[in-house]
This record gives sequence, structure tokens and C-alpha cells, in this order.
Amino acid sequence: MSEEVNPFESLQEQVDDAAVHLDVDPGTLERLKNPERVLETTLSVEMDDGSTDVFRAYRSQFNGARGPYKGGIRYHPQVSRDEVKALSGWMVYKCAVVDIPYGGGKGGIVIDPDDYSESELERVTRSFATELRPFIGEDKDIPAPDVNTGRREMNWIKDTYETLENTTEPGVITGKAPDSGGSAGRVEATGRSVMLSAREAFDYLGKQTDGATVAVQGYGNAGSVAAKLLEDLGASVVAVSDSSGAAYDPDGLDTRAIKERKSETGDVTDYDTPETLTNEELLTLDVDLLVPAALENAIDGDLAEDVQADVIVEAANGPLTPDADDVLTDRNVRVLPDILANAGGVTVSYFEWVQNRQRFYWDEERVNEELETVIVDAFDDLTETFENRDLPNFRTAAYVLAIERVLTASEQGGTWP
Ligand code: GLU
Repeated sequence: MSEEVNPFESLQEQVDDAAVHLDVDPGTLERLKNPERVLETTLSVEMDDGSTDVFRAYRSQFNGARGPYKGGIRYHPQVSRDEVKALSGWMVYKCAVVDIPYGGGKGGIVIDPDDYSESELERVTRSFATELRPFIGEDKDIPAPDVNTGRREMNWIKDTYETLENTTEPGVITGKAPDSGGSAGRVEATGRSVMLSAREAFDYLGKQTDGATVAVQGYGNAGSVAAKLLEDLGASVVAVSDSSGAAYDPDGLDTRAIKERKSETGDVTDYDTPETLTNEELLTLDVDLLVPAALENAIDGDLAEDVQADVIVEAANGPLTPDADDVLTDRNVRVLPDILANAGGVTVSYFEWVQNRQRFYWDEERVNEELETVIVDAFDDLTETFENRDLPNFRTAAYVLAIERVLTASEQGGTWP
């Protein structure tokens, strides 16, 4: 992993690359590359032993032209102001690519959740929710899960917000447990859109998913669900990894059994496979499809030279550096960008928010059908843009499409004051 690449600079470069193909004046371009505001806060939280620990936390609201800010909150030691800014920008363009009525935001706490008890994590989360309270709301900014957060944290945030506001407003946050207003299908949604994007991309490129070999880097929620659904499509998932390394079987792995083993022991490499690999070896395997599903900067320009996959579908946010993109474009490796491929999460968050506001809940079949429509339509819009504008790769096509939608909304709003 290339530590030195700043994800915020990557986002800005991606927007610049697309702007070359658009008629955007320099002032507007600057707005498209910078957040509207960033909250930086310091949380003081009592630990179980009575001591106080201090945590840095952020929420970036990047652009609200198309609707309330929307995006997850991550808990990770690597969280930084620039990372959160980048992730919030990616949310703007992600929501625009799939054409859901949101702007983009993102939050994070600098913390390794493994080092804290559940009650400590609850106090950390409630403290952050208290700081966020003036800035969030179902028509303002709607957080959601991200790396190392899920239903439990979302339920705590909802409860803190509703208690302080003395109201019932489940749509203030998405990714909740079903009994607290969560949507059917939300947990699987990110992995499902990765599978749908891979299926559409293979179809577009005249390749078969049935029998295709797949490697998945990262076996959290997005990676493990994508692997399972790709296996259900008939693909052979030959390698999956986490921070412990990669489990590898050239004849194909049982993705569900590995997930079960990982939830018992914490590591995919505890599953009995013929071979284990390093993450780097997994990323350079000769497979039909590579799915990076961990963190940013998994593949840099150097590693991209050794990638042997034909197609990459990005389940993580920002797993390729701009240098990697250049190398892979030159080498004709097709990359389905994060802002389409992992947009299933925020799309089903949107469905959750709609259901919360209507107090009317859908079954999982309906959620999955509506998600499929959104992703397939977005894929078609992306490939149409790619072909009609003669663009270098799918990422630039996705940004051209998204930026045009954001600009249209801004222009319709005019300039004020
Ligand atoms: N954290 C997810 C993402 O990066 C989901 C965001 C959401 O549901 O708002 O897209």
C-alpha cells in the first residue's frame, strides 16, 4: 500500500481529469474540488477504568447542491482530515452517478475499535453524535456506516440525536438495525452493487462471469458479500484476503465457509486452504476479475504494472492511486470505479431514508429489485458517456457524468448572495 499518496489529492486529480472534457470555469472547478465545510472536534470520553481518553473526529460536508449531505462514519487509526475530505467528495460524485437526491459528506474518528470495550465505544459514539447534533438531520446531513461501524453505532447515534432533540427522526441516519428503522437488504447492498457492476461490465465487454476467476482483497462487509454473490453467479473465487494475508485455492474457495471461519477467529488465513499468499501477491494474481475491497491506495503505479487481472471492480473507496489509473488505462485493464461499483450501500441508505420518512417498509425482494434498476441504469449512463465523449476510461466517464449532474443542480440554484 502506498502510504504517501494523499487521498484528497487523488480526488482533486480525478475531478481535474474529468474537467478537461467539460466546459467548467476555474472558480467553479475549485468548488467542485473542495468541501463546503469541515467539522474537526476533540472528544473526551471516560474509559471503563475511570480515566479519560481523547479522540480526534471529523465530519466533512463537501457539496449539498443535489440534496442533504450523505455518507458514512468510519472508525480507524488512519482517519485524517484529508482522508475524510476525500471520502466526502467521493460521496458527492457517487450519489450523482447513481442519481439519488443527495450531496456528499463523510465522518471519521481516529480510533482502533479493537482496543476498546463495547461500553467505551458506546460513549465515544454518543460523544461524537452530541458534537454532530447541530449539523445533522434528515434534511441536512445523514450519516451511515463505513469502515468498522455498523448497525450498533448507527442505533446509538439515532438514539442520542432523538433524545437530545426530543423527537422521533429515524431518517437522521441510515444503516440501522431493522427494528430501529433499518432497511431490509442494507447490509448486503454494497457487495450486491459490486456483483451487479461486475456482471454488467463483463456483459458489456463480452466476457462470461460463469467460470470467471476472482480475487477479493479485503473480507469485511463489502468484500465478503461481493465474493458470495459472485460465487452465486458461477464465478470461481480463488483468493480472498484480510490484514492476516490471503487464502488461495486455484480450484475455488467456499466463500461462505471462509466468512464463518473469519467471524470465529478474525482471520481468513485460519481457513484451511492449499496455499496462503500476501495481499500483494493476491493483487497481482492472473484472474479475470480483481475486487479491491479494503482501504485507499491498495494499488499504486508500481503495483499496477504487475496487475494481471482483466477487469477491476472497486468495492473500497479510492483503492487505486491516480498513477495506478494511468498505468492500467495504458495497459487496457478495465476499471469499474468505486463511485458506481460500491454505490449500492448509499443507494439502499436512500431507500431506508425514503421508508423512514413514509413509515412504510419494503421487503428485501423489492429493495434488491430497486437497487438492481439503479445500478444497471447508472452503468448504462456511464458507458453511454464513455462512448459518446470518447473518454479514456470508465472513471473519467463516471466523473464527467456526475459533475454535469452536480453543475446542473448548482446552476439551477443560481449564485447567492
Ligand atoms: N459508507 C458507504 C459509502 O462509502 C455508505 C454511505 C451511506 O450509506 O450513506 O458509500
